[in-house]
Amino acid sequence: MSKTIQIHDLSFVPYIKKETILERVTEIGVALKEEFGDKKPVFLAILNGSFVFMSDLARACDFDHEVSFIKLTSYEGTTSTGKVTTQIGLQEDLTGRDVIIVEDIVDTGTTIYTFLPTLKESNPRSISVVTLLSKPTALKYPLKMDHIGFEIPNKFVVGYGLDYNGLGRNLDSIYQLKQ
Ligand code: 5GP
Repeated sequence: MSKTIQIHDLSFVPYIKKETILERVTEIGVALKEEFGDKKPVFLAILNGSFVFMSDLARACDFDHEVSFIKLTSYEGTTSTGKVTTQIGLQEDLTGRDVIIVEDIVDTGTTIYTFLPTLKESNPRSISVVTLLSKPTALKYPLKMDHIGFEIPNKFVVGYGLDYNGLGRNLDSIYQLKQ
């Protein structure tokens, strides 16, 4: 992993290297196989940030499953606005399906918590939440997360799908804002 990087006006330092991320994604895939291996679940990944995690997670899940995407936005720059906007909504019938929400990071929890009632209206058989990262000290809602890749402090991170004002998603490791 290289050293400090610059994105727009901010500097970031290496935080979680790609090998560590992939090991953890593989573990989550194995755990999901035990729970959902014969259920043909639907992964519902929340764009934009989760596209890299979803892509590795799908390949770590050695059982039949479907993948779909929705686009919800709550962040501007490095902070949550507290308001969730739906830019691409649910496309398919999820009635009776086991749905696994896939997030890149749960921060305040606003995005998922606000979306859950809409998802429940589609009458899925079950709803689970998988997130690569979670910031427990930032969480503002009673949100149950079934699989968490890494719990991290309440500091802004980029890479592995996560951006800072549009840039940094292509970094294969996760970087943390330099203090
Ligand atoms: P929440 O609704 O849980 O407060 O925030 C979730 C969304 O905010 C994530 O899907 C992500 O888009 C964005 N987010 C939260 N924390 C971070 C962070 O540290 N870095 C980046 N790049 N995005 C974040």
